[in-house]
Amino acid sequence: MTALDDLPIRDDLRGQRPYGAPQALVPVALNVNENTHPIPEAVAHDIVASLASAVLTVNRYPDREFTELREALAGYLGHGVTPEQIWAGNGSNEVLQHILQAFGGPGRSLLGFTPTYSMYPLLAAGVGTRWIPAARDAEFELSPETAARQVAEADPDLVFLCSPNNPTGTPLSLETVTAVYEASRGMVIVDEAYAEFAPDDEASALTLLEGRPRLIVSRTMSKAFAFAGVRLGYLAADPAVVDALRLVRLPYHLSALTQAAATAALRHADEMLAMVDDIRTQRDRLVVELGRLGYDPKRSGSNFVLFGGVADPHAAFEALLARGILIRDVGIPNHLRVTAGTEAETTAFLEALAAISPA
Ligand code: PMP
Repeated sequence: MTALDDLPIRDDLRGQRPYGAPQALVPVALNVNENTHPIPEAVAHDIVASLASAVLTVNRYPDREFTELREALAGYLGHGVTPEQIWAGNGSNEVLQHILQAFGGPGRSLLGFTPTYSMYPLLAAGVGTRWIPAARDAEFELSPETAARQVAEADPDLVFLCSPNNPTGTPLSLETVTAVYEASRGMVIVDEAYAEFAPDDEASALTLLEGRPRLIVSRTMSKAFAFAGVRLGYLAADPAVVDALRLVRLPYHLSALTQAAATAALRHADEMLAMVDDIRTQRDRLVVELGRLGYDPKRSGSNFVLFGGVADPHAAFEALLARGILIRDVGIPNHLRVTAGTEAETTAFLEALAAISPA
């Protein structure tokens, strides 16, 4: 049998592991921060109607500029964002990859504040960009001073700020974003994959775009929008940044079906986001109940909670899995991460955790 190492693979990919969140068929999957509520049936029917009409013209390549979708995304974001400021890809992972292809590469570097989204170093490695792990404050917080000091010292070509941060859930202040922008000469990306779960009074980095051509705000329809299976991520930035990304994307990278489905779903944004309040309620419930069970849940502005005080995360993960509940061991010692699901799923998780926890 041929092993990976027998192939003439790139030296810098030898020994690396692919992204690999387990995909097990279990009754309660709370491991990859999806919206666990199915999309409303009426919306599904409207999406199907749009897909049916798009299918009739799939003999032709799709609109390379995904014009209608960019208009819909700009309308959804608000804050005066125009379609010329929008870029999209097959998930925000692809959008982040486009950014690295255009602004990273051999001899360049990407800085992120760890622990953070595990794909950042992998995306950097894929395009030969050096990954610079920088530190956070206590409790995974990130103050403007801590962030700006490390950015100034390392002088990276790109900084990825995850807001709120995965896997810790930690919200990020706009003061930290502006401090990083001012301390850097490179591109500053605020990954707002979970922005819709933030408290209503918490401002998005979209409000900072005006006059900051090196700032990019990325979003996704995979989380709050309950559209993970479709693969649609996007960003807002200066139109010149969008021009830079056109240099690296593959022709027609967004299929006609993806464009049709996403545009149709955006017509129903209110219904698609109807469950966000319930999910936030379950997240807040998780924080309270995990504390009652003797764990150490972290502050979260997203749809998941990281909790410490787990003596043996691997054993706890396996014990929950044996009870049909899949959560995530993100590799932080004594911590596990759980997605806020429906009320029933959250109850199932809390009851199973109580059953396996030391009295
Ligand atoms: N950014 C963050 C912080 C994430 O957690 C994820 C998904 N786990 C993504 C980006 C990518 O999501 P997608 O490609 O589905 O848009």
